[in-house]
Amino acid sequence: MVSIQKNFSLKNYNTFGINVFASSFIEYTNINTLNELFINEAFNSIFFVLGGGSNVLFTNNFNGLIIYPQNKGIEIIEENNETVLLRIAAGEEWDKVVEYAVNNLFYGIENLSLIPGNIGAAPIQNIGAYGIEIKDSIKYVDFFNTISGKIEQLNNSDCKFGYRDSIFKNELKNKIVVTNVYIQLSKVENYHIDYGNIKDELKKVEVINLKIVRDAVINIRKNKLPDPAIIGNAGSFFKNPIISKQLLKEIQADFAEVPYYDIDVCQVKIPAGWLIEKCGFKGMKKGNAGVHDKQALVLVNHGNATSNEILELSDEIIAKIQNRFGISLETEVNII
Ligand SMILES: Cc1cc2nc3c(=O)[nH]c(=O)nc-3n(C[C@H](O)[C@H](O)[C@H](O)COP(=O)(O)OP(=O)(O)OC[C@H]3O[C@@H](n4cnc5c(N)ncnc54)[C@H](O)[C@@H]3O)c2cc1C
Repeated sequence: MVSIQKNFSLKNYNTFGINVFASSFIEYTNINTLNELFINEAFNSIFFVLGGGSNVLFTNNFNGLIIYPQNKGIEIIEENNETVLLRIAAGEEWDKVVEYAVNNLFYGIENLSLIPGNIGAAPIQNIGAYGIEIKDSIKYVDFFNTISGKIEQLNNSDCKFGYRDSIFKNELKNKIVVTNVYIQLSKVENYHIDYGNIKDELKKVEVINLKIVRDAVINIRKNKLPDPAIIGNAGSFFKNPIISKQLLKEIQADFAEVPYYDIDVCQVKIPAGWLIEKCGFKGMKKGNAGVHDKQALVLVNHGNATSNEILELSDEIIAKIQNRFGISLETEVNII
């Protein structure tokens, strides 16, 4: 018999700090609970899997079941002189995983230090930062398929990872619960430190090791991003848009300095934060919602903002950027 809590406040379960209620809520440490829930109890109302709540904006009370995985464990599954394969339970906090890897001299995810949330969510949007994405390390993802009632596994290519995208946001959306993530890391010393800010931060040190790279990333992030424990936010609110080189040329006619990264021969990616800043939103406050004053890509809750206040600000930004640059911004945060 699974224990479901009713009329559950999610205020402390989303980093925006929005005060909404879920009609039911279940937390589990053993994944067999999913069997009991979906098979024995023939559960069939709507559900939503919640990790650390650091990439969601709840717009209303949730009239369904919130599933809150808290299964824990980091195990070494395979190891040789060069690589190690880890199986990590979905409820593990992501940054604890990075800390574990760094302490054990496993290379590959140190640039992803301090991203909030749990590892179960990491494959969903293919988390990324400072030139690295989790897809570069994921070997397999195990999930409970609520349709088949079985634990299934996908390998890296079957996950269809893209920029902040995967099969879990598309074909498998709202159908699965990630149970374990397998990541393969290197035991051979190697770093990815060519990325702008990291390069600059590391100029301050004479030798480089994993711990130093992790600390550099943590420093940069602490200086630039608001701490959700102090000011509510969900990190980047928008994705960086991918545009044609033709449109880039048109923008360059007015702003020669526009930053961009090549995607392929025809397309580039430009920082949404730059566009938002150019439209004058950086540091702006509107009621209790606002745009962060150090990173324009982050919308913040200055106090008791409602999700409507945040959405109104987001709509205003989207409309202005469409109008000024002809670019449609897409949200990175999951609007529920
Ligand atoms: C200050 C700050 C900085 C951030 N920086 C970055 C960054 O640099 N790079 C980056 O990529 N992201 C960043 N984020 C966004 C966020 O931390 C990541 O997307 C993270 O992976 C979300 O994890 P979570 O556990 O909080 O997921 P949640 O927000 O709880 O959920 C996100 C999505 O994943 C789904 N989900 C969660 N767990 C599971 C599961 N076990 N099974 C199936 N679906 C699941 C949810 O249903 C939802 O659709 C940042 C957020 C904040 C607040």
